[in-house]
Amino acid sequence: PLALAVTTTRTTCPYCGVGCGVTASLKEDGSLGIKGDEQHPANLGRLCVKGSALGETVDLDGRLLHPQRRNAQGELEQVSWDDALDEVAGKFAAIVAEHGPDAVALYVSGQLLTEDYYIANKLMKGYIGSANIDTNSRLCMSSAVAGHKRAFGEDLVPICYEDLELADLVVLVGSNAAWCHPILFQRIARLKETRPAMRLIVIDPRRTATCELADLHLPIKAGTDVWLFNGLMSYLAHRGLRDNAFISAHTNGFDDALAVADADCADPATVARICKVDLQDLLAFYQAFAETDKVVTGFSMGVNQSSAGTDKVNSIINCHLATGRIGKPGMGPFSITGQPNAMGGREVGGLANMLAAHMDLEQPLHREIVQDFWQSPRIADKPGLKAVDMFRAIEDGRIKAVWIMATNPMVSLPDADLVQRALQKCELVVASDVVTQTDTNAYAHLLLPALAWGEKDGTVTNSERRISRQRAFLSAPGEARGDWRTLCDVAQRMGFDGFDFDGPHAIFDEHARLSAYRNGEAHAETEPGKVRRVFNLAGLTGMDRSSYDTLAPIQWPVQRLSDGSVAGTARVLQDYRFSTADGRARFVPTAPRSPLHAACEDYPLILNTGRVRDHWHTMTRTGKSATLGSHIAESFIDIHPQDALLYGLRQGGLARISSRWGAMVARVQHGGGIPRGAVFVPIHWNSQSASDARVGAVVNPVVDPVSGEPEFKHTPVAIEEF
Ligand code: SF4
Repeated sequence: PLALAVTTTRTTCPYCGVGCGVTASLKEDGSLGIKGDEQHPANLGRLCVKGSALGETVDLDGRLLHPQRRNAQGELEQVSWDDALDEVAGKFAAIVAEHGPDAVALYVSGQLLTEDYYIANKLMKGYIGSANIDTNSRLCMSSAVAGHKRAFGEDLVPICYEDLELADLVVLVGSNAAWCHPILFQRIARLKETRPAMRLIVIDPRRTATCELADLHLPIKAGTDVWLFNGLMSYLAHRGLRDNAFISAHTNGFDDALAVADADCADPATVARICKVDLQDLLAFYQAFAETDKVVTGFSMGVNQSSAGTDKVNSIINCHLATGRIGKPGMGPFSITGQPNAMGGREVGGLANMLAAHMDLEQPLHREIVQDFWQSPRIADKPGLKAVDMFRAIEDGRIKAVWIMATNPMVSLPDADLVQRALQKCELVVASDVVTQTDTNAYAHLLLPALAWGEKDGTVTNSERRISRQRAFLSAPGEARGDWRTLCDVAQRMGFDGFDFDGPHAIFDEHARLSAYRNGEAHAETEPGKVRRVFNLAGLTGMDRSSYDTLAPIQWPVQRLSDGSVAGTARVLQDYRFSTADGRARFVPTAPRSPLHAACEDYPLILNTGRVRDHWHTMTRTGKSATLGSHIAESFIDIHPQDALLYGLRQGGLARISSRWGAMVARVQHGGGIPRGAVFVPIHWNSQSASDARVGAVVNPVVDPVSGEPEFKHTPVAIEEF
């Protein structure tokens, strides 16, 4: 890429939800120096190995530089932007005219910037008139969103990173933070060095790198988290350890939730047996939680990616509500988001069941507010299809055109062979991407070149609600352009007003104004026409291009103070006023249930999937770095040494795992912390990097009934030498 200038630019890491600040210095010889931004509050100058290696990932090898159309022979041919945009707009409009708005779909990504996401959501829900827009964040944290909405009335992360440092007990559930959120984990590690009395308890079926720092590791049986936390709720309630004043003043539903918890989980010995953990260890966890006021319970994919994911989230939140440990320094439930902008996507309504600005698609008043603000011709009036169902609808012909942006569902979705069949059948597959060759792009009729990290300009929001700028420091290569611009051009070609923006700053301003629009202190039920939402960017409205360019990282909600300055908010819910009709938090009864598919004679092992330390998603960026590739060079199947013996699998040999849905092959690895009866396979490798290492083809497509998040952590499989 050509350097715009020899200069240092402050931007944000494009990988995980920690959202670290990065300084990128383009040197005169064209090389790029990457450092942690010492002024960014998320990382204070530190970067993990992925962030540090960003400079190795910005070359143009494999880049999609021009719009391409697939010809009758299946070959890609370069076309002009005008032709490509006309074709997308024309075909989408024709399909909508003939089959209705639900016959088209957008499938987007937590890799998009907030401004791109905002336009995609506005186009689908306000103008095309369908909520068939979903995102790969569905696979990542939609159970946390659903759990927050059920408990708090709004998708709110109550705490901030500082709370981890103020806590006396940090509980990490289903989170290998040492590998997946390294800088956050390092903050905990440093804290433990300086305050040895601070304790860390890790709850995870695998013994991961995170466990090395733990005072206690509870290797629970996969899928039994609700039993564990219902048992904790019951333990707290019957030993006088609940906060009765908080419960009666600020919550509803405690008795019902407790009755459900008591029904199966009142006896710790029973819970220990079901969760397959040592009773004394279980009691040590319960006792530590009970006796420590400042507790943060951080949870991640091991909780969310489950057919009971939303109940798992609420069973954790229930324990914090029962002890009044929320909205105060050093305590609270904490959803650790996976992607760089999963949170930003939530803010603009990028999920099929949400509206912009944290409003609710199913509430007529919220729909009216959003349509009124947009002055749009229509507004989607029912939730759209969530990711797994969206691709089923493509496969059975209900959806005839799909536009995929910044994601690779052929690799990342469960039952990925169904995704392949769906794309093969689909009348029109459009893919906006930075690279030409991916498993998904092989089925695209049109490829639209997008800007990559370092070239694009906008905002992202991290796990602690902090909005940071991603800034461009490289010029756009070839004909690549921002996704927001491509979306706006298609919208205008479809005849829609409301898409005339002269840059990301103008889109952000509209997003901020919508967040404040009719957002009142009074609730809809007491003052019709207003809703009370915590999400509010009132302090960031009216920014011109230059103030947007210099925007410092800030946590929402953002208010403008009387002296004209703006103030963010580190932790929300401090006033215990929740976004429910009566302003109270809700306990949610969470009856425990097992994963739908159990191990059986034909499929005796349980497949668990996850990340490795040095790769990201399907490796389109991290795969370029020799440094990152040197940690783990190829996919693997981790299996307990005794199971390896049982199935005749030697370390380093090839094995094939298969499920009712598909199969894959990878090298056998013994004893990476996996328990008996289970295997672990990383999610990153794909057909571009190995013969066919797509673990998504094996994963079962069962989803959580509330959130629609797939059960990535629990698929029965068979294994054999290959
Ligand atoms: Fe990037 Fe996450 Fe590493 Fe920070 S912790 S440098 S955001 S990958």
